[in-house]
Amino acid sequence: MSKENRHLIFDLSIGKTKPESIVNKETSCPFCDVENLEGIFEKRGSIIYLQNKYPTLYNTDQRLIIESDICDSDLSQYPKGHATELITFGIEKWLELKRRGDFASVLFYKNHGPLSGGTIAHPHMQIVGLKEVRYEENIRQDMFEGLLIHKIEEVEFNLSTHPKMGFIEFNILSGNKHSFGEMTEYIQRAIDFILNHFPFNCRSYNLFFYETDESIIAKVIPRFVASPLYIGYTIPQVPHELEPMIEMIKTVFPELK
Ligand SMILES: [Zn+2]
Repeated sequence: MSKENRHLIFDLSIGKTKPESIVNKETSCPFCDVENLEGIFEKRGSIIYLQNKYPTLYNTDQRLIIESDICDSDLSQYPKGHATELITFGIEKWLELKRRGDFASVLFYKNHGPLSGGTIAHPHMQIVGLKEVRYEENIRQDMFEGLLIHKIEEVEFNLSTHPKMGFIEFNILSGNKHSFGEMTEYIQRAIDFILNHFPFNCRSYNLFFYETDESIIAKVIPRFVASPLYIGYTIPQVPHELEPMIEMIKTVFPELK
C-alpha cells in the first residue's frame, strides 16, 4: 500500500494556533462562549454539533460535538438521559457522514485528560471524515473480544483479552444499531471505573467507536504514558490475569453481578 494512504498530514501552522485548556487553565474556554461559536450544524438541547475551527489534518472533514454547557464535567457524570441522548446523537451524526459515501472512512472518538491527546478540557467528541485513509485496515475483530463483565440482551460489556494497544481496554458491543441506552450505561461505568476506582491513578481516557456488519462497538481505553514495546514494536501487553479486575468492577458496581 502506498504511503499516502496510511499517513494523515498534520498542518503545523494551524496546530500552533490551536487553544489548549487541559494543562493551561488560564486559557478562556472557546466552547463556553456559545454566542461566538461558528459553523454550527445542529443543536439538541445543550449538545452542539459544529465544524472544527482548527482543521489540522489535510484531506479530512473535522467536526466536533460539544457535549453539554458544563465545562468541568465528564461523560461519566451526566444523568442517564443526557448521556444516552449524547451517545445516540453522536452515533447518528457519525453514521450520517459515513453513509454519505464520500470518505474512505469516518472516525468517531473522544479524548479526556492530559494524556489523551486532547487540547480543550470542555467535554467534546470528534467526528472526522478521512478522504484517503481507511482505518478499518488497522482493526481486527479480536481487538473487541474479551472476558464478559455483563450482558443485557444484545449489548455486551467485556474486558479485552487481545487489546489493541494494551493493557486494559473495555469493549461495549451493541447488536442493536438504533437504541443505545444500555451501551451508554456500560460506557459510563467503564469511564467511572477508570477515573475513580482503577488500581492505578488515571486521569485520562479515550473512547472510540467502530461499526461492523453486526454491531456498533465502543472501546474505552485508560491512557498512561504509552509502553515502548507498543511504540517501537507494536507489541500490545495484556495482564497475566483479568478476573481480579472484573471482580473489582463488580464490587464497585454491584448491579453488574
Ligand atoms: Zn468550557
